[in-house]
Amino acid sequence: MAKNLSPPVNFDHPRVTELFEYLMRITAGEYELLLPVTDARDELDAIAHAVNVVVGELGQEKNAAEQAMAQKSRFLASMSHEIRTPITAILGYSELFEDGKVKPAERKMYIDRIRKNCSHLLGLIDSLMDLSKVESGHLNLNLEETVLRAELETIAEFCEMKAQEKGLSFRLEMADNLDYKVEVDKTKLRQIILNLANNAIKYTEKGEVVVRCFKAPIGQISEALAIEVEDTGIGIPDGLADHIFEAFHSRENEVKSKCGGVGLGLSIAKSIAQFMGGNVILKQTKTGKGSVFLFYTPVQWIKQSHFKANHPMLATGKNIEKIDGKLILLVEDSPDLSDLFKIDFERAKAKVTTAFNGKEALAIIQKQNFDAIVMDLEMPVLDGLATCKEMRANGIKNPIVMLTAHNQIAKHKACIAAGANEVLTKPISSQLLIQILERILAGKLK
Ligand code: ADP
Repeated sequence: MAKNLSPPVNFDHPRVTELFEYLMRITAGEYELLLPVTDARDELDAIAHAVNVVVGELGQEKNAAEQAMAQKSRFLASMSHEIRTPITAILGYSELFEDGKVKPAERKMYIDRIRKNCSHLLGLIDSLMDLSKVESGHLNLNLEETVLRAELETIAEFCEMKAQEKGLSFRLEMADNLDYKVEVDKTKLRQIILNLANNAIKYTEKGEVVVRCFKAPIGQISEALAIEVEDTGIGIPDGLADHIFEAFHSRENEVKSKCGGVGLGLSIAKSIAQFMGGNVILKQTKTGKGSVFLFYTPVQWIKQSHFKANHPMLATGKNIEKIDGKLILLVEDSPDLSDLFKIDFERAKAKVTTAFNGKEALAIIQKQNFDAIVMDLEMPVLDGLATCKEMRANGIKNPIVMLTAHNQIAKHKACIAAGANEVLTKPISSQLLIQILERILAGKLK
């Protein structure tokens, strides 16, 4: 901004001089200063008034920019801490294995800690991706018909496991009138309920966690899908309750370190719920007694007469075709992952051939037939999508499972359109990958 605001001509006018002095101070950063406006209401007053309005707005923008900068610095400081802590644990416990002195009894504990810290990092990355989608307005809804009861039972199974690990009891209560399919974004529904239930478990030391599902008029929504999560945990003190939905607002350090929170979950859950047309609110809480959070969203209710609770991916079905003795072509450019999957498949007694890009895979498959192909999407030379299309164009009919590091629906749809039978997002446990291969080979998943 111009620092020399002396009038371009020499004249002696006390009010103009005064105005110029004020302007000099404003340009030096005193945005809260107002130019004097007199009762004369002349041209100079009009100019002074206009300048006051503009400077006022500039001042507000400057404050907002400063706050954003401060928030960004806090964000980076939190992130640095949140990332460094689990990485320190992962590196530290991995190093313990180097000298071969780890006793068998310690082995499982160290591996569990490495795994727990990896999961924590992964959760953090997922939260950051969500936060960036919320902030950039890039959230979208992927509505699909969902059997409500089955969906909630699957979520509840997961919560129950976590609750049991902490010695808490867990209950899912479904109202009687919920034999419906609903049209809803299943991933977002899961994410919000899991967030509330995980918090309930995290902030409860003894007692129980209840997830209650019902249909009710809430606000403007005549038949909202409502999910209440109640716990008998530490509760939320008055002063804190107003802030828990703010990003990075986490419990005081001693509780936080015990519970391991980042302070992003509720803010993301609320933003997503609002994007769905509903909300997440703290319904009631009492310090030392527990809390009730309510999530509600509008959904389209689709009545169904015959109701089957099943989950195709994880159902423990019979007639599973083992991958024992099957020929698998594994196409993965990361040597570490290629080795890892190969070890896992071979432990399940499959015979594995590896290729490091799509071009190699196409050359191999011309000479040899395979029972299934497991292929990475992102690869150099020829990527998974192009390779999959080429294989289908060449008449290869065997099942193809694609693996991708992108959790984007558009990418998944493109893989299916290219002829893949299943698309899985990394990280994926070898156990689940093998289960899915078994089901595909048995013709259970198309
Ligand atoms: P995080 O749990 O990672 O810290 P959240 O955004 O999920 O972040 O929650 C923000 C804060 O809200 C938590 O740090 C905690 O203080 C409080 N909170 C959330 N759920 C509960 C609960 N069920 N009981 C007590 N406090 C809770």
